[in-house]
Amino acid sequence: MTPALGNRNFMEKLEKFIPPRAEWTPVDTALHAPETFFVDYANAQEYLFPAIRHTFKHHYENNFLYHRVCEVNGVTPETIASKKDLKKIPLLPDAFFKDYPDGKGFLNWLKTIFTGSLPRPVFKTDNPSHDEIIEEFNKKGTSIMFTSGTSGRFSFIPRDTRSWNRVKYSAMKSVIELMDYNPNDQIILLIPDPRQTNLTIASLFGIAYDLYNPANVHVALDMKITTQFLRMQRDETIGISEKIKAKALSTISPLVQRNSDLRIIHLLEHIQQSGKRVNIAGPPFWLDRIMDRMKKEGKSVSLPDSQILTGGGWKADESKRLPEEAFREKVQETLGIPHERYHDVYAMSECSSVFLSCEGHYKHIPPPIVPLVLDEDLNQLGYDQVGRFAFIDPLPDSYPGFIITGDRVKILERCPKCKREGPVLDIEVTRLPGFEGRGCAAVMAELMKQDGEDHGAFPVG
Ligand SMILES: [Zn+2]
Repeated sequence: MTPALGNRNFMEKLEKFIPPRAEWTPVDTALHAPETFFVDYANAQEYLFPAIRHTFKHHYENNFLYHRVCEVNGVTPETIASKKDLKKIPLLPDAFFKDYPDGKGFLNWLKTIFTGSLPRPVFKTDNPSHDEIIEEFNKKGTSIMFTSGTSGRFSFIPRDTRSWNRVKYSAMKSVIELMDYNPNDQIILLIPDPRQTNLTIASLFGIAYDLYNPANVHVALDMKITTQFLRMQRDETIGISEKIKAKALSTISPLVQRNSDLRIIHLLEHIQQSGKRVNIAGPPFWLDRIMDRMKKEGKSVSLPDSQILTGGGWKADESKRLPEEAFREKVQETLGIPHERYHDVYAMSECSSVFLSCEGHYKHIPPPIVPLVLDEDLNQLGYDQVGRFAFIDPLPDSYPGFIITGDRVKILERCPKCKREGPVLDIEVTRLPGFEGRGCAAVMAELMKQDGEDHGAFPVG
C-alpha cells in the first residue's frame, strides 16, 4: 500500500507552507515541484543540482564565516559547475553550531553563523540571556531552535520563516507518504507543549497541530522548557535565586511525571473504549516509562489501528536502550500496536528534513537532501558502507546546511522492504565513539532522571 497515491486531498494541509510560484527560487522548485518524494525519486533529482548551486552561491555571498571556509578551501560558486562538483562543497562539522561564546558575544556569534542580516530586535539590557534573545527573534519571525548534549553546550540553529516553512512542509509530506495518515486521528505528544518551546524535537512534533485537528492533540507535559531551565537542571547556575528555583523544580518533577503518565494511560484506555485511532509520538524512553508503569500495574490496551512515532533516541547514557525490534515487541505486547505501525524518525536541528521510517523500518531520506557517508579522513564512501553521516541540505536560507554529523550510519540505495524510491538509512543509528551523547532525547532524559527511580510516593518538601 502506498498511502501517497491517494492523498491529493491532503494537499490543502501543505499549501499554506508553499510560497506563491512567482517567488520560487530553484530551492522551492526542488522541494515543491515533485508531486511525491518517494514515487518518482529520479524526477525529483532533476531539480537537485540547480537548487544546491543556488543555495551554495547564496551562502558563499552572504555568510561571512562560510565565505572564509570556502576561501580557505579555494572553492567559489564557479567551481560548482556540474553534479560531479558537489563533493567539492566545503562541509561544516555540526560542532560549528555549538561554538558560541557565552555572555555578550552570543549575539555577535549568531550574526556570524546567520546568512544575510539578522533582524534587529530590541533588548531591555546590554547583556540579554539566551532565552531573551530567542524570544525576541521569535517575535521578529526568526526562530532559533536548540538542542543540547551532555556537555551542556547547545546547538543553536537560526531559521527565518521561509526556511522554517520548508522544514514543516518536508516533515508533513514525509508523514503523509510514509505513515497511514488520517487527519481525524487522535494525537498524543510525549513532549513539553511545543507551542511553548524551541527545543527542536518539540518544535518538530508540534507539526501535529498543522496535520491534525488541534482539538485532538493531547500534550503530556505542559511546561516551558527554556535554555535557562535546562541549565538549572544541570546545576551549572551561579545565582542563588536560580539554585532555589532549580531545587523546587527537581523536587516536584517525579510527581509531575507520574501524574502525566497516569493521565496518558487513562487516555489510552479511553481511546480503546471509544474505538478511535491514536498516533503516539515522542522519544522512546518516555514511551518506555509509560509502558513499564502499565506493566507494573498489570495493564495493557489493544490499539491495532493506532500508530507510534518515536524520535530523538534514547538517554544520554543509553543504559536502557532496547534494540528497536525488542522495543517494537514491547509496544505490541503492551499497547497492541503491530510492528508495521511503529515508525521511528531520525532528525537533527541542523537538517531541514526528517528521515522517517516506513512500515519496514528503514528511514527514507526525502529529496532534496543529498546524504553522504564519510570515512575517517572525510572521503566519501559508497552505499552499504558504514561511516560518518554528512549531508548537503539546500533548504535553509538562514545558515549553510552543508554539514558533517557525529553519527555512524549505513545508507542503502533503496529500501529493502518497500517499493518507495530513494536512499534509506539502515535501522540503527549510533554515535561515533568520542562524540558526546547529544540530541533532544538526552536533554529530556536529563530533565526527568532526577534520581532515576520511581518511589511511587509523593515527594515531601
Ligand atoms: Zn521502506
